[in-house]
Amino acid sequence: MPTSRPDDDGKLPSRERLRFLRDEIKRVIDYRAFYLRYCPDARQAGARLYALCPIPAHAHSGKGHPSLSIDLQHGLFNCFSRDEGGDCITFYELMHGVSFPRAVGRMARELGVDGRASRPSLAQRAAADAPEFESFEPLDPETAAEVCERFLEVCRGEDQLEGVRYLARRGIDAAAVRRARVTYFPRRAYRRVMRRMLEGFPLEVLQRGGLFNRRAHLTFYRHRLLFPFVVEGRALYLQARTTAPGVEPRWHNMRGPVPALYNSDALAALPSGSTVYLVEGFTDTLTLLSHGLAAVGLVGAGGLKEEWLAPLGRFRVVAALDPDEAGRRAAARYRELFARRGLRLATLRLPADVNDFFRQTPEAADRLGRMTELALGATDS
Ligand SMILES: [Zn+2]
Repeated sequence: MPTSRPDDDGKLPSRERLRFLRDEIKRVIDYRAFYLRYCPDARQAGARLYALCPIPAHAHSGKGHPSLSIDLQHGLFNCFSRDEGGDCITFYELMHGVSFPRAVGRMARELGVDGRASRPSLAQRAAADAPEFESFEPLDPETAAEVCERFLEVCRGEDQLEGVRYLARRGIDAAAVRRARVTYFPRRAYRRVMRRMLEGFPLEVLQRGGLFNRRAHLTFYRHRLLFPFVVEGRALYLQARTTAPGVEPRWHNMRGPVPALYNSDALAALPSGSTVYLVEGFTDTLTLLSHGLAAVGLVGAGGLKEEWLAPLGRFRVVAALDPDEAGRRAAARYRELFARRGLRLATLRLPADVNDFFRQTPEAADRLGRMTELALGATDS
């Protein structure tokens, strides 16, 4: 999910202040992380990066030899093909189509060197870093698991009530919450949770996982209802939701790729031939779990990855995606994906998403059961 960056259309800094901020930016910036964010496929040789030049105004074909060369020691770039180069701020200007003062203002703020006299609020200090300022190397799975497990353990020591109530209002029972290891911490516990995480790991590790930002603050501040992705019994990844109305974005994630279908670890204990629902999101997955049904969830724009299909092969899989155009298109795409591997995917068309269906429909479980048998029958013929 993209991190939105507040656009600064307010007063721009004076010339003198711009010079000061420019120097501060260059003092703290991690050139490698900065350039790699724009050129993720860059090749490193010694203290240089070589990449296909991404500068939009250059309108390169995106093929052929890398024309962009980056000097990591001084942070300078040069595009040989268009004979244009400069420092990281020029690069930012070119990439975002903004003026020098605007680029300096934004970069200084992202890097936390704008030195605003007023102390930023806790929410501001907890804000996740903009993607181009995240340090580069994501955590390896082993460390990610240690960090996730510790985070869940620390949070479980806090009062879970608000989180459990939030889910209960959506028809998700406490047993399903427990089984899925959904964990919550109240905002009043924020500093304590932050401190305990810092006791357990070096700050740099927590930053690489996206749990902490450059200001050394826990980024899970508004998003404190944590949904772990459990793989072989260990949480490898976390996404978190806000429980407060009106907070955008509603989700905040760790860094790194989504490692599996949500709740896929629960499939291991399920007999072959069981019916497994493929749904969108945590709420729909947990809704079905609350009714004693087996479900796995697709989360995030990435959708279904082909390597996740193999463990589904021994089940009767039924897609119950959202009843909108995107859901219908996704279902059609997934049917093809399954078919390519010789698997069948039955498709349900519910009048609402799974959670709404269960909340609005009398005897929803029975009706879902009948629709499921029909859908599975259709794939058998
Ligand atoms: Zn270029």
